[in-house]
Amino acid sequence: MAPPLSTDVDCSAPPPARPARILCIAGLDPCGGAGLQADIETVAALGGHALGIVSALTVQDSRDVGRVQAVDADLLAEQLRVLVADCRPDAVKLGLIGDVVQLPRIVAVLSALAVPVVCDPVLRAGGGRDLVTETYPQALRRVLLPQVSVLTPNAAEARRLVPEAGSLDDCAAALLADGCQRVLITGGDEPDVPVVNRSYASGGGVRRFEWPRLPETFHGAGCTLAAAIAARLGIGDDPDAAIEAGQRWTQAALARAFAVGGGRRIPGRLPR
Ligand code: PLP
Repeated sequence: MAPPLSTDVDCSAPPPARPARILCIAGLDPCGGAGLQADIETVAALGGHALGIVSALTVQDSRDVGRVQAVDADLLAEQLRVLVADCRPDAVKLGLIGDVVQLPRIVAVLSALAVPVVCDPVLRAGGGRDLVTETYPQALRRVLLPQVSVLTPNAAEARRLVPEAGSLDDCAAALLADGCQRVLITGGDEPDVPVVNRSYASGGGVRRFEWPRLPETFHGAGCTLAAAIAARLGIGDDPDAAIEAGQRWTQAALARAFAVGGGRRIPGRLPR
């Protein structure tokens, strides 16, 4: 049986100054490991406030995704327009985009906002199911990347975004040439022990991070990492600090992961 939730909350503590507002555009994962719920939990745990827009509904469990149903692009655009006019975000986190036709609608809002944007280029579920159409990777590169501050592909996503590249370094160079400012290629899906992540900057320079490889497999690790980086950027970190802090925080959440069903574990993002 799961331990009871702690009720030890100090209600006399003063509220923080306005929490950073992080606009999260993501898919809805009913089991709560990935997608918008991962973003909301991460942003809240890091002291921010998430503004949530659903890009797609999904049929899935903790093992794999069965179906993705994109939200109507006009509805998404209307939600975005109304939301950002009232609640101006300090940073944006993009996850699964339901359909290529959503991309230009999202870009129109991002270019007017001019705040840091973290994009997790979700292409395939960890269970193996494709989550996007054939044309999506190239559309993402062409339409979205010029607006992106930090792109967070895993190794498989980096290779699929740049199929012509001979190495992960070449993938990063091509993605930076498309216009994003930083590319953090994560190695959780590679065989290396420890896990190696590399952060590439548009002005040149690569930072290498090593993290212990944990024995379990996870559902929602990529969403959690990208949301943590976005939260730190919204709070005011510079990109290098946000990329490091986001990884450190995600590693701690993975170490606290728990089983929600019979499949992969989900990160322990909230105090329990
Ligand atoms: N469902 C949604 C809505 C997602 O955004 C993602 C990944 O970002 C997934 C499923 C797949 O997550 P994972 O590959 O960690 O299982």
